[in-house]
Amino acid sequence: MKKIKVNKDACIGCGMCQSICEEVFQIGDDGFAEVIVDEIPENLEEEVMDALESCPTEAIVDNDEK
Ligand code: SF4
Repeated sequence: MKKIKVNKDACIGCGMCQSICEEVFQIGDDGFAEVIVDEIPENLEEEVMDALESCPTEAIVDNDEK
């Protein structure tokens, strides 16, 4: 199962990830994106990878690769 996180130092709060997959990404009270699930459900993996690749600052990082 995939795990990801948002690097808040890199996030600019553009909202792109949330618009691609709001089940996983939400803009928090601080104006930056956060991951609202522990593990990415299999049926959302594709959308999440889409969001990861679409993030303009590459703030979404794949936790599996660390
Ligand atoms: S797409 Fe990237 S920069 Fe934009 S809100 Fe999501 S994590 Fe932040």
